[in-house]
Amino acid sequence: MRRENSDKLYTKAKSLFPGGVNSPVRAFKSVKGDPVFIDRGNGSRIWDVDGNEYIDFCCSWGPLILGHNNTVVRDHIVATLDKGTSFGAPTALENELGDLIVSNNRFIEKIRFVNSGTEAVMSAIRLARGFTGKNKILKFEGCYHGHMDALLVSAGSGLVTLGNSSSAGIPEAYVNETLVAPLNNREAVEEAIKDHGHDLACIIIEPIPANNGLLIQDIEYLEFLRKITKENNILLIFDEVISGFRVGFEGAAGLYNIQPDILTYGKIIGGGLPVGAYASSAEIMGQIAPDGPVYQAGTLSGNPVAMSAGIATLKECLKPNFYSDLEKKTKKYIGQIVEGIDVEKGFHIQQIGSIYWLAFSSNRVTKASEIEAEKMSFFKKLYEIVLDNGVYMGPSGYEVGFVSSAHSEEDLTKAAQVLNNAIMQALDNEQ
Ligand SMILES: *Cc1c(COP(=O)(O)O)cnc(C)c1O
Repeated sequence: MRRENSDKLYTKAKSLFPGGVNSPVRAFKSVKGDPVFIDRGNGSRIWDVDGNEYIDFCCSWGPLILGHNNTVVRDHIVATLDKGTSFGAPTALENELGDLIVSNNRFIEKIRFVNSGTEAVMSAIRLARGFTGKNKILKFEGCYHGHMDALLVSAGSGLVTLGNSSSAGIPEAYVNETLVAPLNNREAVEEAIKDHGHDLACIIIEPIPANNGLLIQDIEYLEFLRKITKENNILLIFDEVISGFRVGFEGAAGLYNIQPDILTYGKIIGGGLPVGAYASSAEIMGQIAPDGPVYQAGTLSGNPVAMSAGIATLKECLKPNFYSDLEKKTKKYIGQIVEGIDVEKGFHIQQIGSIYWLAFSSNRVTKASEIEAEKMSFFKKLYEIVLDNGVYMGPSGYEVGFVSSAHSEEDLTKAAQVLNNAIMQALDNEQ
């Protein structure tokens, strides 16, 4: 595949942006080659600036559950654009999206729109601290919650540790308020609560961790978190920025039937435009300004154009069988990818709903520490082959893939063949 125009744009971009990109994972640091610059997308396909066509499983990192440039979504955006782009005053569109979400979700009573997943989580943490009057938070190794200071932390050595900041520029005082525990491990949480429960405002988890592989947790573990937090006056936050509207309209809370205290959303909620949200009971949300003392605001929050993309997208998601069809398609696709590949060779796929992850391991992986970094060489090898054969995925072995409603059976069969071949080649080459 020739990518001369991409290469030229990347050279220019490097003179303008750190690493040539506006978000680091786009920079192809974990795979060979340079970023592909995209010109346009339609349905399951994207085309790069050199005219190469790809079946896309990145789907803008999750938001595009209807695929690219869905006509219903586009028409709704265009109709809204005709009336202007932003007012900084309430519009009916905010009510419409809010109502669509709240009246179809048993786990929330009130919601607040923001502009990204990071902002949603940041606000949810402030709310948890404001509501409980406590300071510390607990997160899990292998969960990503956006780039707020207190959550850019990784575990030290030990079962539960104070976070080590995983980015420069974060005062130690901030990370000292964050505890980090391994996923799917009860003792770690019990220990943290024993030592710090009196000052622990919340436990935050991706109920379906999907930012560092797809580390599907035991439902009993999530139920345990619910129980122990409730018993100790600690709020449980489900960060559903990926899983919300993805594994079902009610996200992981609905799938597992677990009531968290605060939920955060992003990605799909904006239908491809920048929207995030946090939601909770009317009582807890009553703490938020202007009703309560926890301040949170946004010049462009509830932006009408973004709201209209969210409304059109979520209405499609609410149609009968939307999620079951998507899952059925995904399962068939996964079956085709792994056909003839022996698990004993060290490969399987972890999947839930329309999210999947290529796991270079023979065993189920539920913790960050179980991912073997050296196995990413397989992904690197595979990625090059896959990309050259017209399948686009997030350029890192730690990233998951997404199937959209726009992926046809033919698309999936074709992509599965490409992946199947590439995986076999990658595994064989290494042995
Ligand atoms: C993507 C993501 C975020 C961050 O959202 P942004 O919109 O990128 O700021 C937070 N939490 C989870 C679980 C995510 O997947």
